[in-house]
Amino acid sequence: MQSEEKNELLRVNELRVQFGRGENPARAVDGISFDLREGETLALVGESGSGKSVTALALARLVPQPPGRYAGGAIEYRGNDVLKLSAENLRELRGGEIAYIFQEPSSSLNPVMRVSEQLHESLRLHRRDVDPEKEIVELLKCVGLPDPQNVARKYPHELSGGMQQRVMIAMALASRPKLLVADEPTTALDVTVQAQILTLLASLQKQFGMAILLITHNLGLVAEVAHRVAVMYAGKIVEQGPVEKILRDPRHPYTRALLAAVPRLEGSQGTVQGIEGLVPDPRHLPPGCPFHPRCAFAREKCKTDEPVWETENDRDVRCHFWREL
Ligand code: SF4
Repeated sequence: MQSEEKNELLRVNELRVQFGRGENPARAVDGISFDLREGETLALVGESGSGKSVTALALARLVPQPPGRYAGGAIEYRGNDVLKLSAENLRELRGGEIAYIFQEPSSSLNPVMRVSEQLHESLRLHRRDVDPEKEIVELLKCVGLPDPQNVARKYPHELSGGMQQRVMIAMALASRPKLLVADEPTTALDVTVQAQILTLLASLQKQFGMAILLITHNLGLVAEVAHRVAVMYAGKIVEQGPVEKILRDPRHPYTRALLAAVPRLEGSQGTVQGIEGLVPDPRHLPPGCPFHPRCAFAREKCKTDEPVWETENDRDVRCHFWREL
């Protein structure tokens, strides 16, 4: 998918988020930088525990403090420093300009409120200019729910998982966000529904022109929907660039390992190569390159020296030896 030249919406620069204090705080996000333009989709990919979800929450200052702490860096949203916004501006940003959808729709929807009441609440907070009854039906229609009037009268438990996720997306769209943060939006759904939801997000993005930050552990999912991809490991981005470049020619050993872990039907007779070992404890990151205990290409230097960003054309990589691999 080609990215069009658009205005910058979000710039994250050397962001650090830590949990706990003392000598060994957990470095959940450890100096990451990326940007996102209007109407663009950036996929943030990595295993559980790599820092993706904390990054997502940090964008609208949703990391609970304590135990969390913004330990450095900056988040600029449309030129404003999110870390310095007043409480009132922050309220406008959350659920308004920046909307979220999460993995488990059943835990994000209020079980004792009908769908229409929940959508009403979103519209009351962010779009007082519209006729709520009409808009609720429009929103449910545009996320592909059949018989929207009937769905609006239902409670969440009366809907399937896929329908609940569509309602969540409708709630997120109710404020006409400029940025939609979708944190593992399809993980709890079965495979056919996953594909439908991703296709829906891509078509809604075209319709509403919003940017999407898609958080996923599955690099295989991003090919159809993302313009760019950033791969995260141990709180750092280790490789980022245009999606076709990263998927066709991954250069960081961790990106390669993630791709090898994607199930394929063709070629490798359906085999999947898991990644050996575990994501390190963010309180005790290994010295040198944090991936070295799991990396098939690690050399002595990797155990002592932390790799720095290297940029070539529009790809950034954090590995000592990426040009030789
Ligand atoms: Fe592997 Fe070394 Fe590159 Fe880290 S720096 S990814 S350990 S080769």
